[in-house]
Amino acid sequence: MALRSEWLEQDYYKILGVAKDADAQGITRAYRQLAKRYHPDVNPGKEDQFKAVAIAYEVLSDPAMRKEYDTYRAVGPSGNSSGVGGSGSGNNWSRRDENLGDFIGDVFNRKRKPQAARTPASGGNIEAEAHIGFEEAANGVTISLGLDSDVACGNCGGTGSEHGAPPVVCPKCQGSGSISVSQGFFAISIPCPDCSGRGEHAEKICESCHGVGAEHRKRQVKVRIPPGVHDGSKIRIKRGGNAGRNGGSPGDLLVTVHVSSHRFFTQKGSDLLLTVPVTFAEAVLGAAITVPGIDGRVSLDVPAGAKSGLVLRARGKGLPRRGKGERGDLLVTIEIDVPKDPTDGQTRAVKAFAEATPESPRKYLEDQA
Ligand SMILES: [Zn+2]
Ligand SMILES: [Zn+2]
Repeated sequence: MALRSEWLEQDYYKILGVAKDADAQGITRAYRQLAKRYHPDVNPGKEDQFKAVAIAYEVLSDPAMRKEYDTYRAVGPSGNSSGVGGSGSGNNWSRRDENLGDFIGDVFNRKRKPQAARTPASGGNIEAEAHIGFEEAANGVTISLGLDSDVACGNCGGTGSEHGAPPVVCPKCQGSGSISVSQGFFAISIPCPDCSGRGEHAEKICESCHGVGAEHRKRQVKVRIPPGVHDGSKIRIKRGGNAGRNGGSPGDLLVTVHVSSHRFFTQKGSDLLLTVPVTFAEAVLGAAITVPGIDGRVSLDVPAGAKSGLVLRARGKGLPRRGKGERGDLLVTIEIDVPKDPTDGQTRAVKAFAEATPESPRKYLEDQA
């Protein structure tokens, strides 16, 4: 960063709130007031203002430098059209810039600091929806989700450091994360501006993400949906959300799972419900029947004398209970099927049954009357 260009942008008189022809006393007075107001001990979070005020004062309180500053702002970067970053050109202004940079660098190390203070920020959560089939929900499935989100920068692997080189101990604060600043009126400890108080920073900033460590792009993620999810279940993939910035931790990915309904089964918790028809003969005589299960057929014994509405339970043939390694039950409701359009043979058989059954099953009701 060329300080020269900063000189054009920064009106130090305005920053200190003094007139262009303010005398040294007035400048010192203004600085003292503002430095107290923005002092990090008094007003945390006003660090930037505090620094700006200090830099303005460093320039304007030195008569020689103030004169250079005034001239520079009046004349502009004459004789050097390269503007930003032209510190190697060897002309008068560049050398002065370097000297001034070193000078201010002693206070805030701005010269060696190529970017603004980096505060770690965690990435936000991402909400997504998934639609899966009934069997997939029962047995578990791995799905692919298309997301458009912040991910770790591909160039630096999210480190913010060019090619992912390991961070170096911050030379400014020797890894302590804070520096002591002497301002003439006070000596204070402020978070190290080079490393934002982290004690380390990238040796060379990643050019792709400018050190942030994250970039926004489309991606496909594979999400394992465990067996036994219900319609509306939420799956949380820790750290699967937006990538953090400046070393912040990533958010989570929250997937709401929609489970399509099944042709035969309904779901009640981890139990599966199924209604099956049996013939009149099977209900009377009892029968071994097989019914579909979620992973293969299930054999059941219909007891002799079964009535409509009888529920047969096949233990452990339901849906997996999440995270428990066990399964719910398959609950089969018996429904006696009555032929709507009986064949001659059926009619004959039923008439024979009727003759063999002289007593009404409603006799108890008649006795009441
Ligand atoms: Zn540091
Ligand atoms: Zn990067």
